[in-house]
Amino acid sequence: MSLKINRYKCGYCGACVGVCPKGALELVETWVEVDESTCITCGICDRICPVGAIEVMK
Ligand code: SF4
Ligand code: SF4
Repeated sequence: MSLKINRYKCGYCGACVGVCPKGALELVETWVEVDESTCITCGICDRICPVGAIEVMK
């Protein structure tokens, strides 16, 4: 299981970073970093992203 963020779609709004219950997402300059060891692939960030840039692969 992993998380895929499409950097061409992402508008760096930071919404996903704010909703992640595990704090696994971080906005680093113009890129959203995922801490794969912390992420539980709950999919909340996937649902909140306004541009559909996040895809949870199960
Ligand atoms: S899938 Fe869940 S735990 Fe993983 S980064 Fe998104 S909100 Fe955080
Ligand atoms: S919610 Fe979507 S557009 Fe906003 S920072 Fe996260 S991945 Fe990028």
